[in-house]
Amino acid sequence: MISIEKLSEICKKFQCVLNLDCLLKDYTTFKIGGKCDVLIDVNSAESTKQILSYLKSEDIRYAVIGRGSNIIASDNGFDGVILHFGNSIADISVDGTYIKAGAGASLASVCIEAQKNGLTGMENLYGIPGTVGGGLYMNAGAYGCEMKDVVSSAEYIDENIELCTVSVENMGLSYRHSVFSENNSIITSVVFDLKKGNSDTIKEAMTECMKKRISKQPLEYPSAGSTFKRPVGSYASLLIEQCGLKGMSVGGAKISEKHSGFVINTGSATCSDVIELCENVKNIVREKKGYILELEPVILK
Ligand SMILES: Cc1cc2nc3c(=O)[nH]c(=O)nc-3n(C[C@H](O)[C@H](O)[C@H](O)COP(=O)(O)OP(=O)(O)OC[C@H]3O[C@@H](n4cnc5c(N)ncnc54)[C@H](O)[C@@H]3O)c2cc1C
Repeated sequence: MISIEKLSEICKKFQCVLNLDCLLKDYTTFKIGGKCDVLIDVNSAESTKQILSYLKSEDIRYAVIGRGSNIIASDNGFDGVILHFGNSIADISVDGTYIKAGAGASLASVCIEAQKNGLTGMENLYGIPGTVGGGLYMNAGAYGCEMKDVVSSAEYIDENIELCTVSVENMGLSYRHSVFSENNSIITSVVFDLKKGNSDTIKEAMTECMKKRISKQPLEYPSAGSTFKRPVGSYASLLIEQCGLKGMSVGGAKISEKHSGFVINTGSATCSDVIELCENVKNIVREKKGYILELEPVILK
């Protein structure tokens, strides 16, 4: 049983904001998700450790979210405590070619800081609408660049509630996968290692990257980005298109006509709509093309 009194006490001590009776749809880019009783805007590794100690001692369920841009949240909400990594843990500092960012910093703000400091390497990540922590957890990537190419180390809280440091070689980063998803660790900060470059050229590359996204992706609708992982040997969007599934819908969830790799929320989509639509797509693609599609976003329930 969650003691709001106890959590308020910890939050007050560490000056983190405790939100009650939230709707997950307000914390996800898909704009989907039911109620969650407690959501805490964590603001440091230390406050996260203290909150975790309490949650674990009472066996209370918890989940971590960043910008919620790769999450499909259940219509029934989340029965437990959400640890939200956002603006309250988003400090960014630059030291030579290194940039250290709090896990809640947006990838976009790190890209902008890199550009201002004439640091090149992560331009192609500009436009991924997530946080640094969520980006590392997912090994987010775009246009030939992944987090694994630009990160040098990270701090995280392990299962034993210890703050640890890990270098990039030991993060098990591969396509949309990291060791953090295997061992339930919580990333608190990330260090990027970039190269010296020209600010104007970097800015041009970022602008170009954003233009591509605007022209190809249905950014005018809520979504969680690419709905399916890229299967070995093909592309989910291509297979979906070849099966004639563009525009297919269940309730308010629809396969985007602009980019068939995206399921969009046309206004009233529920989590069940999205899941049902994705199941239909998976079945048809398997039958017609022989490929097994796998969801990319994480289901929060
Ligand atoms: C329009 C659009 C375009 C997108 N384009 C791309 C793209 O080009 N490439 C790409 O890779 N992705 C893309 N995405 C997906 C998404 O933006 C990325 O996966 C992003 O990195 C997720 O970050 P987040 O902060 O939103 O994480 P969330 O969605 O909040 O969380 C995702 C997972 O990470 C975990 N997590 C979050 N923060 C932490 C933390 N601090 N410690 C431990 N675990 C954590 C969560 O528990 C969850 O399991 C896109 C999404 C949208 C909506």
